[in-house]
Amino acid sequence: MGIDIDKVRAETPGCANVVHLNNAGAALPPRPVIDAVAAHLEREAMTGGYEAHEASAGAAGRFYDAVAGLIGARRDEIAYVENATRAWDMAFYAVPFGEGDRILTTTSEYSSNAIAYQQVARRRGATVEVVPDDAHGQISLDALAGALARGGVRLVSLNHIPTQNGLVNPVAEVGRLCREAGALFLLDACQSVGQLAVDVTEIGCDLLSSTGRKYLRGPRGTGFLYVRREALGTLEPPFLDLQAAEWHAPDRYEPRDDARRFETWERFVAGQIGLGVAADYAAALGVEAIEDRVTGLAERLRSLLAEHSGVTVLDRGAHRSGLVTFTVEGHDAMDMKLSLREKGINVSVTVPRAHGYLPDAPDAAVRASVHYYNTEEELGRLVEALPR
Ligand SMILES: *Cc1c(COP(=O)(O)O)cnc(C)c1O
Repeated sequence: MGIDIDKVRAETPGCANVVHLNNAGAALPPRPVIDAVAAHLEREAMTGGYEAHEASAGAAGRFYDAVAGLIGARRDEIAYVENATRAWDMAFYAVPFGEGDRILTTTSEYSSNAIAYQQVARRRGATVEVVPDDAHGQISLDALAGALARGGVRLVSLNHIPTQNGLVNPVAEVGRLCREAGALFLLDACQSVGQLAVDVTEIGCDLLSSTGRKYLRGPRGTGFLYVRREALGTLEPPFLDLQAAEWHAPDRYEPRDDARRFETWERFVAGQIGLGVAADYAAALGVEAIEDRVTGLAERLRSLLAEHSGVTVLDRGAHRSGLVTFTVEGHDAMDMKLSLREKGINVSVTVPRAHGYLPDAPDAAVRASVHYYNTEEELGRLVEALPR
């Protein structure tokens, strides 16, 4: 069943205000998310932060079921973390790397992750290998299988959808290869949760990180980590507080036996409630319907852009996402972004410093990222507003 576009736009106050094509940066939240966050902030102000949390324990707890349900996990496999970077870090730095351990990743990896790989390589003597791309620009499964066969791989870590390119990595095939080789699989699903039908069992990842504000349409300053039950025992988080672990004075501690060992006690409670509402909102629309709509609109935009003279669409991949990147000959990407902003159209610019290991990245490109609430008419307005 398709999405009722008029209804979701009516429930998204920002739609009446702006043509928002920066959903890979931060999407417009729907009214139920805005109301849930505002109501909790109000409750904190009126009754006290701890008291408000106790009164809203049900709504805060709903977060775990909502997120777990959305990605096919169990509630005790979900941790609430303040953003995707920190969720990913908590997982990555929990892996007990030793001298000579191999880390395999992909060319389009997010630069923050690349920095972490290098830090662990320096500190622990692990090695980082960037698996080459296939002809479509996504991770080569043949090259990955070959790299795994050489042994010693502690971790395979890659993005589902890179931040700077429309490709979708073949993560279920990667998961199958990792299971066969007995390697841990960490998936950066920051751009895919809320955009594609993401199922952790189908993908076969051990760890998955994502953010609230992008395709999930949740509040800023929220994110989550999924940790497969079977992987938990070998992973001790780099930081543990008095809720993540039990303290036995004077010298013993016991980490929690669920994914919440990756959390801290203090948190943005209104955000946790809001992210739960956002996950429920996405699930109610249906992740398959969302995926169909987003990928359909993005392909429509690519074909409109292809008709515009001077435009080069840069997206690669056998499957492509809602992120559309392009350049216009003779025009600076940042200038275009600012001039579009003046016309009420939001896009963003991807810059080389975000581009992990990509050798042939352009200096800068415009990124127009569509969501299901965008319309064909809005796509037309973007293309119309581009320089001739
Ligand atoms: C945005 C992004 C991140 C970082 O997410 P934050 O919530 O900003 O920490 C990580 N990986 C990818 C692929 C992203 O696009």
